[in-house]
Amino acid sequence: MKFKLIRPTLETPFHIDWAWFDRNHLNAESFVRGQLCYSCHQRFEKGLAVEEVDHIDPETGEVIRMDSLRESILAHCQMQPDYLAPDVPVMQAILRVFLANNNQPLTAVGLSQRLRRSDAETLLRLLTASGVQNGVVPVKL
Ligand SMILES: [Zn+2]
Repeated sequence: MKFKLIRPTLETPFHIDWAWFDRNHLNAESFVRGQLCYSCHQRFEKGLAVEEVDHIDPETGEVIRMDSLRESILAHCQMQPDYLAPDVPVMQAILRVFLANNNQPLTAVGLSQRLRRSDAETLLRLLTASGVQNGVVPVKL
């Protein structure tokens, strides 16, 4: 585990390692479901199928295949005012930032700019102090 030997810094990019959920016998889909807004959550609870769909990146026009839970977050839930509300626990808010940007790597500085509630040093400490949470790990270079 090479990355554990290199102490992450403010410049270290992080992302969600989806394989971490499998390795820890956790269901990634239920973590993603837990980040849906109320109305999307209801739609899936009432039987809307989780299936592969096309997501069109609004900035680049690129078409990306993903499951409909993640697509709902990108296209809808992340625009809701409570998505990154101050009462969302900070580690959960970090997971939500990555779901909202389609898991593009971000440093602690970048995360702090998105979250607007903790400085980068605090976030870096949270990300490295107590083991991996929600699968958020340094990007392996
Ligand atoms: Zn939604």
